[in-house]
Amino acid sequence: MGQGRITRASSAQAEDLNPYHIAQQQFDNAIRYLPGIDEGLREFLRRTNRLLEFAFPVEMDDGKVRTFVGFRALHSRVRGPGKGGIRFHPDVSRDEVRALAFWMTWKCAVADVPFGGAKGGVVCEPKELSERELRRITRRYIAELGDNIGPYTDIPAPDVNTSSKTMAWIYDTYEMMHAGKNNLPVVTGKPVELGGSLGRREATARGALFSTQRALNRGVVPGLGSVAGTEIVIQGFGNAGAIAAELFQEAGGRVIAVSDTSGAVYAREGIDAPSIARYKERTGSVKGFEGTATIGDDELLELDCDILIPAALENQIRSDNAGAIRAKLVVEAANGPTTPAADAILFGRGIPVIPDILANSGGVTVSYFEWVQNIENEQWNLEDVNRKLLKKMDAATDAVIQTQQSINESVASGSGGESTSEPLNLVDLRTAAYVLALGRVVRIAGERGIWP
Ligand code: NAD
Repeated sequence: MGQGRITRASSAQAEDLNPYHIAQQQFDNAIRYLPGIDEGLREFLRRTNRLLEFAFPVEMDDGKVRTFVGFRALHSRVRGPGKGGIRFHPDVSRDEVRALAFWMTWKCAVADVPFGGAKGGVVCEPKELSERELRRITRRYIAELGDNIGPYTDIPAPDVNTSSKTMAWIYDTYEMMHAGKNNLPVVTGKPVELGGSLGRREATARGALFSTQRALNRGVVPGLGSVAGTEIVIQGFGNAGAIAAELFQEAGGRVIAVSDTSGAVYAREGIDAPSIARYKERTGSVKGFEGTATIGDDELLELDCDILIPAALENQIRSDNAGAIRAKLVVEAANGPTTPAADAILFGRGIPVIPDILANSGGVTVSYFEWVQNIENEQWNLEDVNRKLLKKMDAATDAVIQTQQSINESVASGSGGESTSEPLNLVDLRTAAYVLALGRVVRIAGERGIWP
């Protein structure tokens, strides 16, 4: 994940696992299908607009002072203010936040919400920190960011190991520094009683379900027309994964395996999602849940199932295990779980991947709804939020599938694309999503012009 894990020596074919390099490879691949983009603009969109890095002191519960390192990357504000989560994790690095910010730009464009891409993080292990320590880290990190975030410039949200509670501390810190105006839209994913949107907590998973249902309905997996009756495997049992388990089960799917950092559990006859969520809340892990067998982390990814949902971290499906994936469909609730080499293997094997920039865009979509509600001083009801989310996810999924079909028709007929010596290939859904997003961003860049 981090810069320290650039290659996997154990892999037969060493793969570059630096997430920022991966993000740029995806960009380079997609842009070949969009001829005529000014070279300078390409270069700008390929890079990070701004990257902040700071070290700051925090007083720990034992009275000692520890230094933490935090980052905030802004990839692009072409389509609107920067938008992106804040991650607390030991592997947070410059290149990880740059990659995550980059993906946010294309995700917001696919979802068609008026934001650019940003992301932040603090290098820390939350499991080893008390709530008071986490609060002090959050407050100091936000104070260090100062006016580099703001309701109309760059708007944080939750990500790995941060929650609505963290967002409340972010709001409160910013509010202390900017009293006297409506600061609610400075951060999304807040508690509902503090201006959070109904449905935001479930939005990433609900969006993934809506996108999956639409894609299946449109024939993305031959012979599989609906989530009802499918067998589902989920890696990662946090905000995205645990709620996906509940929602996919409600939609008629059967969850047969789940995992978290403590390990993976499996039951072919099905694991009741709400019960294992309660068990995890009580015990802190999914391991040992009644009626399940413990399996290896790698084994989980390779289970025979209909839908595999990676909902943890980057680089989980790689060149060394993509050949062993037996799912009929991969739905990326996590950001960056599949490497470019794995994408090529899965595409070659006829296993479609609903890419992160589409599959998990429900989170930022409802964050956008929250931002609008905050600006208008309103609270929408849950039915309205979910109805609007469904409309957005259907439109985004349709647009990605349509883009894939039109590119592949022109590739098959030998027309279109860039006139390079390199032949253009049939594209997967990820490349199609990038082409769609890039087209939207480039059009707005053209309309705005380059300042000054
Ligand atoms: P979270 O902290 O709530 O949950 C992460 C889960 O993954 C935890 O259960 C953790 O134990 C598990 N995990 C971590 N490493 C693992 C491993 N190697 N194997 C198995 N499980 C592992 O975080 P989250 O918000 O659910 O984020 C998960 C993913 O979804 C990230 O890639 C994040 O960027 C993405 N995402 C989140 C949101 C959101 O709104 N929270 C939106 C879009 C995308």
